[in-house]
Amino acid sequence: MKLCLKPTIIPFKLEGQVVLRFNGQYAKIPDPHGAIWEFATALDGSAPFETLINQVAERHPAVDQEDLRSVAQDLIRYRLVESPDAFETTSLSDHDRNRFSRNIDFFGSMAAVGENKFSSQEKLRAARVCVLGCGGLGTHILFDLVALGVHHLTILDFDKIELSNLNRQILYKESDIGMPKVETARRRLLEFNSHLDITAHETRLESAQDVARVVSGHDIVICVADKPANYMADWLNEACVQEGVPFISGGLDVRRSVFYSVVPGSSGCGACWLTSARNKSSLVNSISTMAKQHDITYRHPGPALVTLVAVTAGMMVSETVKILTGCQPPQLTNKLKEFTFDDLDVGIAEVWQQNPDCPVCGHLANSQQLSVQTETV
Ligand SMILES: [Zn+2]
Repeated sequence: MKLCLKPTIIPFKLEGQVVLRFNGQYAKIPDPHGAIWEFATALDGSAPFETLINQVAERHPAVDQEDLRSVAQDLIRYRLVESPDAFETTSLSDHDRNRFSRNIDFFGSMAAVGENKFSSQEKLRAARVCVLGCGGLGTHILFDLVALGVHHLTILDFDKIELSNLNRQILYKESDIGMPKVETARRRLLEFNSHLDITAHETRLESAQDVARVVSGHDIVICVADKPANYMADWLNEACVQEGVPFISGGLDVRRSVFYSVVPGSSGCGACWLTSARNKSSLVNSISTMAKQHDITYRHPGPALVTLVAVTAGMMVSETVKILTGCQPPQLTNKLKEFTFDDLDVGIAEVWQQNPDCPVCGHLANSQQLSVQTETV
């Protein structure tokens, strides 16, 4: 097998040892004869590593070949090397391989030997992503998604662009004022990447059924639509659980932002969270009931600082990457995370579990338990 030191590894030759620096960590390998340094720096994918071991051992008779083999196995185990043989096939075009080469090495930093480092980028390219809301968070998220290499997008909004949007909504400019957000966003994204496949809906969502019609057939939904304030989260949750589509939702709350994700069938849903929050606090129970009954929200548009928008968009798109590519497990399920401007910390604001009696997702929990029981029998 041919092996290559990953491009994300920096080798250092120190007194009696080789140190490999990667992702803020250091792998230290004793090297009294200089043979390990020779071996590590010869790993460029041009020859099988067994051949390199033989060549290095010939030049260093004092070194046991088994020690070199053991180092090679450790490099493989700790994912510090890649095999160019695994990269021979990819569905990515030359344009995409070049455009997203920095992403590809990012994903490659996590890949095991033999895994194709192009596969995460291919998954982003193939994914169908729906973004509800093209305001502050929506425009940042869309820009990030397209920069990432997401190709199939559905976007939705009903608003027109106003001067007061330009403190944070980065896809719009002064000459766009008065224009529909969704069409302007579509045009601007196509200027950024002319190959995109974008479906734009200029419409207002008025029920869970409306949301279900739009999100059906997508691999993930990112919801940053905040109107109607007291109903949107419920409609989104109901529609996505019904359609079996994972979703990520988030928003600003004065000097903090909050964000969470739901993967139907494997995590709790928004209704599980609401039940849990109401059971934990009678105040939350009273306030949320009253807000919904009388549709109480801010009387004026809420404050929105672009820095909170940018951080939150980055968090939500990171979770999107994890869910779409499977490169790492999701980090926002069963919990509400918050970014606070006051101390610049990201923390967990609330946690919940999948509730087997949940009126929205309980049937998924029950069917999962059934299948587990069947397998046990
Ligand atoms: Zn639920």
